[in-house]
Amino acid sequence: MKPEATFAVPAPEQPSLPVVGSDKRFPVRRIYCIGRNYVAHVREMGGDETRDFPLVFQKPRDCVVQDGGTVPYPPKTNDFHFELELMVVMKSGGYDIPEAEALSHVFGYGICLDMTRRTLLDTAEGPRSPWELKKSFDLSAPCGPVYPVEQVGHPATGRIKLEVDGKAHQDSDLGLMIWRTPEIISTLSRYYSLEPGDVIMTGTPDGVGPVTEGNVLVGSIDNLGTLTVTIGASVKAAA
Ligand code: MN
Repeated sequence: MKPEATFAVPAPEQPSLPVVGSDKRFPVRRIYCIGRNYVAHVREMGGDETRDFPLVFQKPRDCVVQDGGTVPYPPKTNDFHFELELMVVMKSGGYDIPEAEALSHVFGYGICLDMTRRTLLDTAEGPRSPWELKKSFDLSAPCGPVYPVEQVGHPATGRIKLEVDGKAHQDSDLGLMIWRTPEIISTLSRYYSLEPGDVIMTGTPDGVGPVTEGNVLVGSIDNLGTLTVTIGASVKAAA
């Protein structure tokens, strides 16, 4: 047996999510995100394409915020947005997964938020705008509990709704996704080997908007419960 490794600096924790109906947790390996996946959101962002190749990016796994947690207002923006999304989590994977087999690799589903610095301060906009800085920053990935497939099947339709301080902002239906879950899994697997623990954020419907300190965000998707987070003080102010 391999002797237990000792590390020169503290080792990072393994982020994980609760699994509904189980005392086991779902370990998060990677967080893949799909952008521009509902026509109405593409339009509100100024585009009109519908079946262009999906926009793909990642968030580091230590961006996860648990249900009920606090998301600090991040630095270098005054335009911090919510994007409520269906979360798909994988139990297996590999390369080149055919669409017809894609759902057999899914462990379960949940609700997540792709928190976004829509506008960056002191950073040029335009074609060279640094997407990574807008999307992949500390605590930008609130994720709700995982509902196993055995309990909820494979949701392809259902209301997806976000309220901020009790007022509805996003209110749409999973049936309006441009790229469906099997297509997303199959497409990602042509570029990456999907593995157990991978989380996929599948894109947001229209109605995105800014938050301020103290806002309480409650996301819900039919049969997948709710995800609640509070926007905390600015990271800089708290420092
Ligand atoms: Mn998004």
